[in-house]
Amino acid sequence: MTDGLFSSLDALLPGLEELYIDLHRHPELSFAETRTAAKLAERLTTAGYQVHTGVGGTGVLGVLRNGPGPTVLLRADIDALPVEEKTGLDYASTVRTTGQDGREVPVMHACGHDMHATWLSGAAALLAAHRDTWSGTLLVAFQPAEEVGAGAAAMVRGGVLELGGRPDVVLGQHLAPGPAGWVLTRPGVLMAATDALRVTLHGRGGHASRPESTVDPAVLAASVVLRLQSVVAREVSATESAVVTVGSVHVGTTHNVIADHATLEINIRTFDEQVRTRVLAAVERIVRGEAAVAGSPQPPDFESLGVFPVTANDEDANAKLTDAFRGHFGAERTMEAPLVTGSEDFSEYGRAAGAPSVFWLVGGMDPETVLAAVAAGRFEQDVPSNHSPLFAPVLHPTLRTGVETLVVGAVNFLGVPRVSGEPGQ
Ligand code: ZN
Ligand code: ZN
Repeated sequence: MTDGLFSSLDALLPGLEELYIDLHRHPELSFAETRTAAKLAERLTTAGYQVHTGVGGTGVLGVLRNGPGPTVLLRADIDALPVEEKTGLDYASTVRTTGQDGREVPVMHACGHDMHATWLSGAAALLAAHRDTWSGTLLVAFQPAEEVGAGAAAMVRGGVLELGGRPDVVLGQHLAPGPAGWVLTRPGVLMAATDALRVTLHGRGGHASRPESTVDPAVLAASVVLRLQSVVAREVSATESAVVTVGSVHVGTTHNVIADHATLEINIRTFDEQVRTRVLAAVERIVRGEAAVAGSPQPPDFESLGVFPVTANDEDANAKLTDAFRGHFGAERTMEAPLVTGSEDFSEYGRAAGAPSVFWLVGGMDPETVLAAVAAGRFEQDVPSNHSPLFAPVLHPTLRTGVETLVVGAVNFLGVPRVSGEPGQ
């Protein structure tokens, strides 16, 4: 059914390559994706979609109603990161912009969301051009602000699940540092939940020469950081997993003053709700306990900096999709994905719609480089990961593969058109 559909993908590829390079050269930070959104909306309009812009800020929703049948939502995120690109590519980003705190920051598509947007734009065009091969309603969502964990929820609040009807299934994909041309699926949990916290520890400030008159928050912060290392080592079982990282520690301004407070920013990754609850409780207990031991004049403050839900795939929908990928790409290019400690806000759509959702990974790196690195046991060192200033997907066959996955996925869940003259069922 999809053969004729893919024969016209070749003709689309030069335009998609142009779009990708353009988006890569012009990355925009979370909720500032105005240029990107306008480009993508324009393409959807040209392809014949009913287009809603400004959904949840800078989000775009395309709706294509094509007869009776299921409603399928395809989602791509479109934001970039405050990272300085060092790939040396001739289309590398040199963009700098003003970040949320007013400071100038470099901007780069270091997570591949430019590829996600291009894939979805290509799939949307292909499915519109071949609407005689399927029946139902196609929803195409370009989501802002995934990197800050706020875009999916913003689009849900903005009506993404009502403007074109409630989806029966939600599909999405992420570019990964695997071999280009490979597709990786996983039943059940694929990606971790994230909890980001800011903790303020209170001390009593004073002169560096008279520590006896103070409660030194530097010493307290150091104890907390060390003790937090025991959460995963001592409180999470060997068959479960979690990550607790203190990514930021700030105390004081100069050497001859003992500060009156310290701030820690903590990032926690878990794959299971029970483990998550246990780890969060352990972190809070340790922070409060260490503060009490240090004689803090007041209890510590906890502030959430964001929560990403666990990304869990519906087992049935994932099995159906994996079979379709195997049929299309062959078993040698359809692998089982490992558990990923990264997080996504993709699950928000399925949760809010009460619909099954499936998220999968598409490899984007030079296959020879990846396979040689794996063989040498140097994958982590030799293959730049998402968010690295060196993250540089190869264009081919990455561009084609990610369009094909979305089209195979959509067609797999959409209806089959009734051939005219065929008796009703
Ligand atoms: Zn990212
Ligand atoms: Zn990403």
